[in-house]
Amino acid sequence: MEIAVNGFNREAARIETEYGIAIYPERVGNMHTDLARYIEVAIGIVARKLPVAVYGADSRRWTGPQSPRQVFALYEAAGDNTADYLTQMALNTERIKAKKDDLDRSLKQKCLRPKTKTGEPCQMRPLYQAGVGHQEGFGCWRHATDKEKLELEKSRISIEVKTGCPGCKAGPGEACLIPTEDGLTPAQAGLTMVDGEWPRVRVLGGVEIHVPRIELIHPRVLEPAE
Ligand SMILES: [Zn+2]
Ligand SMILES: [Zn+2]
Repeated sequence: MEIAVNGFNREAARIETEYGIAIYPERVGNMHTDLARYIEVAIGIVARKLPVAVYGADSRRWTGPQSPRQVFALYEAAGDNTADYLTQMALNTERIKAKKDDLDRSLKQKCLRPKTKTGEPCQMRPLYQAGVGHQEGFGCWRHATDKEKLELEKSRISIEVKTGCPGCKAGPGEACLIPTEDGLTPAQAGLTMVDGEWPRVRVLGGVEIHVPRIELIHPRVLEPAE
């Protein structure tokens, strides 16, 4: 396939619309055979619906049009993923949005148990429950009963016993290693990305634990936003 430098911008726009491949207009000036080859290869990968990787070079879910070289790199890194480029692009965008919506929703929940003095519904965030998150109407640290707190602690210990943590180096039976030192990147602190993001931390039964570890035992079903 030959792409003339003349009309390159129009052609680039067409390729982006049709194949979701981003070719930057500033490349017009130094358009050379190498880039043309990559464009051709990238279009082939998309058009033939070949599988590509879920995560980009930075280990995060990639979104939006990628450059021809990135398309090729994603193809080379496909591993056992079966989704093709445009499908995976849509899946990644959906997944990131679903996770964000789920987190936003979870953080907005309120305890709503009556305050001791006024009887008004408590506006604090409910305690985190494994597999549930912060559920409206469940007690906050002040209003949850001792029995409820004990249940939460038991649920955490049960998770800790059953599995190690994919986000930190804690083995089965060990508590999560939560970095406390300032100035370290998560990677320097020994953390590993799980599903394209650094592991989030929640207090479960009075002790911090990484969310991906909880989710190994209690998988989250993400509901679409209303
Ligand atoms: Zn409360
Ligand atoms: Zn952990």
